[in-house]
Amino acid sequence: MRVLLVEDDELLGSAVQAGLEQSGFTVDWLRDGRQASLALHSDEPDLLVLDLGLPGKDGLTVLNELRARQSSLPVLILTARDTVEERITGLDTGADDYLVKPFDLGELNARLRAISRRRNGRGTSLIYCGDLVFDPVAHCISIDGREIQLHAKENAILEALLQRPGLPLSRERLEQILYGWGEGVESNAVEVHIHHLRRKLGKARILTIRGVGYMIPKP
Ligand code: CA
Repeated sequence: MRVLLVEDDELLGSAVQAGLEQSGFTVDWLRDGRQASLALHSDEPDLLVLDLGLPGKDGLTVLNELRARQSSLPVLILTARDTVEERITGLDTGADDYLVKPFDLGELNARLRAISRRRNGRGTSLIYCGDLVFDPVAHCISIDGREIQLHAKENAILEALLQRPGLPLSRERLEQILYGWGEGVESNAVEVHIHHLRRKLGKARILTIRGVGYMIPKP
């Protein structure tokens, strides 16, 4: 899952980026509100973690503009502004969650998982698809009770495909999910991960749709 982190504090930003990447998120990090607005216009991530006190443009303005154009992108505000009034304003402006600094990285992780679950209409983080039970938090899938461990990038691909069984995702979209802006993408990276996933799950579990991309069939 791709997270856009907007945070102007270098130390905090790099800690959050490292912590989220360790949990399997792909994190793009911007330090400026105006740049964030521009980035959100051209390429929406799966989740936005937004500081409020930002150079260029205040985080609340970024959020306001996002909601004004009907975007339902899940947003977590991460800020030192900790009064009740500020929290209410943040949530009423359209944030899905509000976390006050200093915070615990584990809690940030859990809150991001919670808002992405809700967005996908699920009550738990487990994803069920036919005889598959996928646990994206534990990086584990079970088929008929047989548990299979997944590497972080395999986990990210499977999570994206299982969010929408029966609908294909392009290789380009999967590359975006796997890699942040700064990272070089190896040209056959997606194919390699799909190959490993098929070996683990069985060949027929992930279909190649010629000229379109990859798909997990609807159960
Ligand atoms: Ca700040």
